Amino acid sequence: MNITEQADFSKSEDGLLPAIIQDAQTKNVLMLGYMNLEALEKTMTSKKVTFYSRSKKRLWTKGEESGNFLVLKSIELDCDQDTFLVQVNPHGPTCHKGTDTCWGNENESNFGFLSELERIIESRKNSTSEKSYVASLFESGINKIAQKVGEEAVEVVIEAKDENDDLFLNESADLLFHYLILLKAKGFSLKAIEQVLLERSNKNK
Ligand code: AMP
Ligand code: ZN
Ligand code: ZN
Ligand code: ZN
Repeated sequence: MNITEQADFSKSEDGLLPAIIQDAQTKNVLMLGYMNLEALEKTMTSKKVTFYSRSKKRLWTKGEESGNFLVLKSIELDCDQDTFLVQVNPHGPTCHKGTDTCWGNENESNFGFLSELERIIESRKNSTSEKSYVASLFESGINKIAQKVGEEAVEVVIEAKDENDDLFLNESADLLFHYLILLKAKGFSLKAIEQVLLERSNKNK
């Protein structure tokens, strides 16, 4: 069965099911819209996300005026076939207010706790607390931080040869932690590294 047959439009009185729109690359939630069967079919044939607009009272292809189309990557139904998860490649900002998502610009916690950790590291960078290990590392300068990353990398190499998973994971955490500090000291964040990887991956497509 394909998705047009699977979707349970009888679940809603007006025949509209919610469609969560997610950026296929960043996984940010971009917007929420509603689809009836016709909107779903049009989305699948045109590869441009098309909703049923409750305010316009007609099919609405997102981007029809602005050119900021949502190019279809995949559609999935949820556990009880009444909500779509639509992965897209957005052309330009998704919100008509000019932001990437209808909840503002990109989620700041794209990398979950790692993003949180980046913020903590940032706050230590700007603090002069003598008690903070991270603050004292920033104080000691880039070369020292880079050396520390090198040491932790060697420890990971050593533990990789061992059978002890716990030691390997702990040294890996040390490496990642110090690497985040090095990135910050150089004025970069994980986002910049992700961008380089994304560009490489796009080149190979
Ligand atoms: P567009 O589909 O991008 O050409 O925009 C056409 C109109 O649809 C805009 O003027 C807004 O009224 C509305 N609109 C566009 N994007 C959104 C959105 N993400 N959420 C709600 N309404 C939107
Ligand atoms: Zn459901
Ligand atoms: Zn919006
Ligand atoms: Zn270590």
